[in-house]
Amino acid sequence: MKVRELMTNQRRTFAIISHPDAGKTTLTEKLLLRGGAIHLAGEVKARGAARRARSDWMKIEQQRGISVTSSVMTFERDGITFNLLDTPGHEDFSEDTYRTLTAVDSAIMVLDAAAGIEPQTLKLFEVCRLRSVPIITFINKIDREGRDAFELLDEIAEKLALDTSPMSWPVGMGGLFEGVFNFETKQLHLPEGDGKEFLGKTIQTDGPEDPALANHLSADGVERVAEEGLLAREGYPEFDFEAYRNGDLTPVYFGSALKEFGVEAIIDAIAKYAPAPRPQPAGDGEISPDHDEVTGFIFKVQANMDPNHRDRIAFMRQVSGTFKRGMKLTPSGLGKPIAVHSPIMFFAQDREIADTAEPGDIIGIPNHGTLRVGDTLSEKDEVRFTGLPNFAPEILRRVQLKDPTKTKQLRKALDDLSEEGVIQVFYPELGAQYIVGVVGQLQLEVLISRMAAEYKVDAALEASPFATARWLKGPDAALSEFEGFNRPNLARDRDGDLVFMAKSPWDVNYQQEKNPELTFSATKER
Ligand code: GDP
Repeated sequence: MKVRELMTNQRRTFAIISHPDAGKTTLTEKLLLRGGAIHLAGEVKARGAARRARSDWMKIEQQRGISVTSSVMTFERDGITFNLLDTPGHEDFSEDTYRTLTAVDSAIMVLDAAAGIEPQTLKLFEVCRLRSVPIITFINKIDREGRDAFELLDEIAEKLALDTSPMSWPVGMGGLFEGVFNFETKQLHLPEGDGKEFLGKTIQTDGPEDPALANHLSADGVERVAEEGLLAREGYPEFDFEAYRNGDLTPVYFGSALKEFGVEAIIDAIAKYAPAPRPQPAGDGEISPDHDEVTGFIFKVQANMDPNHRDRIAFMRQVSGTFKRGMKLTPSGLGKPIAVHSPIMFFAQDREIADTAEPGDIIGIPNHGTLRVGDTLSEKDEVRFTGLPNFAPEILRRVQLKDPTKTKQLRKALDDLSEEGVIQVFYPELGAQYIVGVVGQLQLEVLISRMAAEYKVDAALEASPFATARWLKGPDAALSEFEGFNRPNLARDRDGDLVFMAKSPWDVNYQQEKNPELTFSATKER
């Protein structure tokens, strides 16, 4: 094997998707602790706090006590480098969250055993499905009273239309919790001490019916492992590697991030089953990680870390080649190469400036606004990655400018901020009031505060009659006929593409039925 192939096979770039409070932060800390990044554990939130102090709009996050900015955490174990991309899980999440999922090869879905699938889990899952991102499920908090394990498995299968394959089983939950039995390794993990934590006490068995289990579990516990274990293995599909890789099946692990049950199993599962960096779609073909030239795409831009300077960090997901510091890369659309002298690289050992990066790694590139979300970077400027989508906004507002002489600045601000992916902007075909769209409420506050601070534009947001937007495609004749009838409900996005502004989801369905030749798309591939 070539050296780079070897390096690539040893990387796992993934994200955790979950509803707030399911335990993503706790699991992240435990993963970092288990992997070779001990000094980071417990600092996940602290680091966030330091970062949040930096600029005006980050104050909003601070007030809410949340972080809307994704970051990259790296840890190593058994020669494998894990790149964990943080996706903010708060209600007010933004397009950033979605976009981060375009930069990973797989995801861990964390569910609270008492809550099952929650609204945000569902939304994030849908983005994963759109891109066939394979998912490993972690059912967390089994040390507390939770729902019946079978019921949880059925709910995943039903709500996500996804086969579930239980890989481990909880020996009771809450007050009845006695440990976790792993079907793969046939090991029983037992709690110890007052905290009933997993401190490493492991019993190797011959299987769920092993009589030796009676030495470690109550009679109820033995029965649970034997009977429920049998039902679980017979009632659900066996783990199928291909089905998992295609996004049709999820292996399910039960555990408690807080008490460290199942954390090890999750790391093993990512190492064993999750895909190494995958080829990325580019034009008519795809670029594979062993392509010689360095290529990558920008999935996130974090701007104005310091309000006095227009400095931005563009996050690039490296797709191919071996990146070396100082290398010249050409951003698509710019035609002029930029030298990447001081990239920010994320490593387990230290996050100082490092010298090389491999496919699957994330590099932060400081720039002054040259790099945009969706841009491809490459050595020769011959590659264009496709498939970094925009997502239909769920909140739409009209922008009301308080000082009419500032129209130009307003347009500049909206164009800039939509390029960054903070908002989406729609210019109605009729009327002069611009419409902005976001997927989370917090983005609106960010918009107002950044327009005022950076562009000196005083604007307010008012209700718009629209509930969502759909990108329109179809034969020219059908499109212009539709345009003739629906002009008040049409707008152009910043690329000039036609968008149907819908008053309700029902409106979308109605128009779709009436206009079968047109597609009303909730995402737009760029
Ligand atoms: P996030 O919002 O998804 O990042 O969730 P956190 O990791 O911050 O966890 C939310 C709350 O649940 C915190 O109070 C955690 O201590 C708690 N928690 C997380 N994992 C577990 C677990 O396995 N068992 C119990 N009992 N509590 C947990």
